[in-house]
Amino acid sequence: MAVAPLYKTQELKIYNSISGQKEVFTPITEGNIGMYVCGPTVYSNVHLGNCRTFISFDLIYRYLKHLGYKVRYVRNITDAGHLENDADEGEDKVSKKARLEQLEPMEIVQRYTLDFHNILAKFNNIPPSIEPTATGHIVEQIEIIKTIIDNGFAYEANGSVYFDVKKFNETNNYGKLSGRNLEDMIANTRELTAQSDKKNPQDFALWKKAEPEHIMRWPSPWSDGFPGWHLECTVMSTKYLGEQFDIHGGGMDLKFPHHECEIAQGEAACGVTPVNYWMHANMLTLDGKKMSKSTGNILSPAEIFSGESDKLNKAFAPTVARFFMLQAHYRSILDFSNDALEASEKGFYRLMESIGTLENLKINKVTEGFDVQNWINECYEAMNDDFNSPILIAKLFDAVKFINSIKEDKATISEADHKLIQKTMNEFVFDVLGLVNTNEASSDISDKLSGTVELLIQLRAEARANKDFATSDKIRDELLAMGIQLKDGREGTSFTLN
Ligand code: AMP
Ligand code: ZN
Repeated sequence: MAVAPLYKTQELKIYNSISGQKEVFTPITEGNIGMYVCGPTVYSNVHLGNCRTFISFDLIYRYLKHLGYKVRYVRNITDAGHLENDADEGEDKVSKKARLEQLEPMEIVQRYTLDFHNILAKFNNIPPSIEPTATGHIVEQIEIIKTIIDNGFAYEANGSVYFDVKKFNETNNYGKLSGRNLEDMIANTRELTAQSDKKNPQDFALWKKAEPEHIMRWPSPWSDGFPGWHLECTVMSTKYLGEQFDIHGGGMDLKFPHHECEIAQGEAACGVTPVNYWMHANMLTLDGKKMSKSTGNILSPAEIFSGESDKLNKAFAPTVARFFMLQAHYRSILDFSNDALEASEKGFYRLMESIGTLENLKINKVTEGFDVQNWINECYEAMNDDFNSPILIAKLFDAVKFINSIKEDKATISEADHKLIQKTMNEFVFDVLGLVNTNEASSDISDKLSGTVELLIQLRAEARANKDFATSDKIRDELLAMGIQLKDGREGTSFTLN
């Protein structure tokens, strides 16, 4: 008999930024979830702050999958249209970098997309199901602009097209996500400069006419130009997930104007509000200030892994940095410091050690000193409460205490409970939190993991022999995402840990 998926018995609550409340999560189609997360602008190396947001959504993706949902996770690559000041002025970030480095814009895009993938794989993030690019969807962006113009919510001026916020606000509500209202916004903005083509300062670009020196340009009915930054996410989310989908995520700093504009574009084009649950991950700070490329207040993942920074006393494994981040709730601000990371490292190794100890515990007839079923329920309660990873981790340490007391003959465990604890620890620590056991002391686990990889290699070979390349590629790609690289050679397939 097939086992019912966990989501049937677990009640997941998600904090919806648009209502400001935790809501019981119900997907549009039972058992299926469409999730869109704004990806990076690939004009520079990712910093640790960016990584935190993507790790937060990796946790969310992992838990949704753990609950048995079929998740289509779309995360874009912004490779055009993101201007320097996040509004409609300044140079395109990718173009500018290309000009400064005397490279093709696509060389910049390639370099930093690879860096992004490489770093996220080190953090053991699972790749999204689809990773579309803005430049790969210019045609769709032009089409949606035509629809928005036809629906009366955008106008052309001098070869550019702008979204008419005032007109939109007459029938819809511009500001409902960020809790602003248009009258206040108008009262607080300066007059337009004489050379602006906009009717009102709140209007935002859907299409920008390219100046002669602008390298990245495409033909359109209005001018040779390029799409506005907000548009790509509307186009790619609705193309792959439908006009209405379940979850849209991104960093807190994208709430306004980016996500507010996405709602406006979606409603103006499709007549329905695009997203049911808006999720925003909070910022990683350094010395109390937001890590940000533009201010230079950043630490890079490479600095963490090598320890080469005056902010650090030593190097830290990627999984330790991941654990440090997951010890804070995704909606809380997290301040980075060497001391905090060292404390996390101690905790991480204690957890890994205890997973090793668990393997060889003395089994008894009965369990004494711990209510295993209740503990499992509490682990799920933590994650069902808006993905509360710090509470989950505290619960895992309750189990660590129990495991240590069994070792010291102060408690006992039955065979059935031992199996349950092992299964639950493995599921939460490795599948849901996505941690990687780097503890050399637990060679027993390493042996078992090697055995598991060998088994997957064998299954992949069988799939290939049956011409089931979807399965064989999935095994290779998912292992790679976990940092396990398969190498096909004359002697067969071997693997290395990245
Ligand atoms: P960008 O490449 O600038 O578009 O940013 C990529 C993602 O990183 C966005 O979701 C941002 O909200 C997020 N982000 C930027 N800075 C930080 C930070 N200091 N902490 C957490 N997330 C951040
Ligand atoms: Zn976006």
